[in-house]
Amino acid sequence: MKFQILTLFPELFPGPLGHSITGRALDKKLWSFEAKNIRDVASDNHKTVDDVPFGGGAGMVMKPDIVEKALLSFPSAGRKIYMSPRGTPLTQNLVKELATEETLTILCGRYEGVDQRVLDAYNFEEISIGDYVLTGGEMAAHILMDATIRLLPNVLGNDTTPYEESFSNGLLEYPHYTRPALWTDANGATHPVPDILTSGHHANIAKWRHEQSMELTKARRPDLLEK
Ligand code: SAM
Repeated sequence: MKFQILTLFPELFPGPLGHSITGRALDKKLWSFEAKNIRDVASDNHKTVDDVPFGGGAGMVMKPDIVEKALLSFPSAGRKIYMSPRGTPLTQNLVKELATEETLTILCGRYEGVDQRVLDAYNFEEISIGDYVLTGGEMAAHILMDATIRLLPNVLGNDTTPYEESFSNGLLEYPHYTRPALWTDANGATHPVPDILTSGHHANIAKWRHEQSMELTKARRPDLLEK
């Protein structure tokens, strides 16, 4: 899969995605990226990419002609995404869908955002990573990319499966435990792992995990159960 990123800060890519699982997948060419500096296509002496908003108000707006020129500098765009707090919330289902695409072009906004006309003219799909406002779209793009890359074929090892994780079956994941079986904390309190997990009875363990998932989801995210 190829990610084409339109940004004023191309040096932020691959950033955290160059490490660990996503970094190894990049080395193995399971995904690739091209981060284009939008400023490079500005032709005036000041390399201007933004201007004041029509109608007044605070901040600056990224110019439609500049964003268009940067977009058209890619031979083909594939699915076009604008990272935006006004967008469709990024969910695991949406991530699964994105992971089937060959090319994603991701526009990262700065300032007050991007002139609406270029978003409309080129059918950018707006995607949000949550109900809060970041200073720019680059970190939002990292999140979308990370979640997508780990679903690509051969990215996760055989012992790590994305299908049992939170949201993949509409539930939050059950709690995890590892050795030691009996842990004594710094205050002297002892914490055993739940007996069922050391019973060796796989069917009962699976049942217990499912019950834990249901309980956690009910307590923390009842909205997921309603869906
Ligand atoms: N004026 C915009 C608003 O109120 O909706 C916020 C602009 S924000 C300061 C600058 C850029 O950060 C946006 O154009 C977008 O690309 C990115 N951004 C901020 N919050 C985001 C979020 N929750 N999800 C995705 N991108 C976000």
